[in-house]
Amino acid sequence: TTIENDLRDAIRTIPDYPKPGIMFRDITTLLGNARAFRRTVDELVQPWAGSKVDKVAGIEARGFILGGAVAHQVSAGFVPIRKKGKLPHTTVRVAYSLEYGIDEMEMHEDAVTKGERVVLVDDLIATGGTAEGAVKLLKQMGADIVAACFIVDLPELGGAEKIRKLGVPVRTLVSFD
Ligand code: IMP
Repeated sequence: TTIENDLRDAIRTIPDYPKPGIMFRDITTLLGNARAFRRTVDELVQPWAGSKVDKVAGIEARGFILGGAVAHQVSAGFVPIRKKGKLPHTTVRVAYSLEYGIDEMEMHEDAVTKGERVVLVDDLIATGGTAEGAVKLLKQMGADIVAACFIVDLPELGGAEKIRKLGVPVRTLVSFD
């Protein structure tokens, strides 16, 4: 589609970052482009326009930037999902898999209450390990996960499929092979 092409053109690719052989999709150029940023936020939430969303959960760190704008757009609250040790109040924590090894992420235990309708947001889904961890956390809190939304999908890595298999609808705007 034209919107997909416009957004793809607004994303910069950095070869060999952070390691040789990796093509890093850098969305800071999209965020810096007023028109592209607005269109991204509008498009991401388009399927839920008019339906109630209680909270938008954003994954540290680029999911915060996007998630804050999305939360405003759908008149929802914002909830940060952070790397362990960053949140000051009592948290719930989950281990998740990275490309090499595992890490832990957490959210405040009172950030989402049982039955709240939550949209999960991050900039990009690759293997889906990060999003899977966030989905586990939200389910643990009793959230009703409306969808997981990402600007970029790397479909060859299978992350979007992995999240759909957990019963969570996935929305992405741009795919890179
Ligand atoms: P996954 O857990 O393999 O799906 O990796 C997704 C996480 O890694 C997200 O939080 C992304 O922000 C980050 N990530 C992985 N690859 C890229 C990239 O090419 N550009 C930007 N972020 C990336």
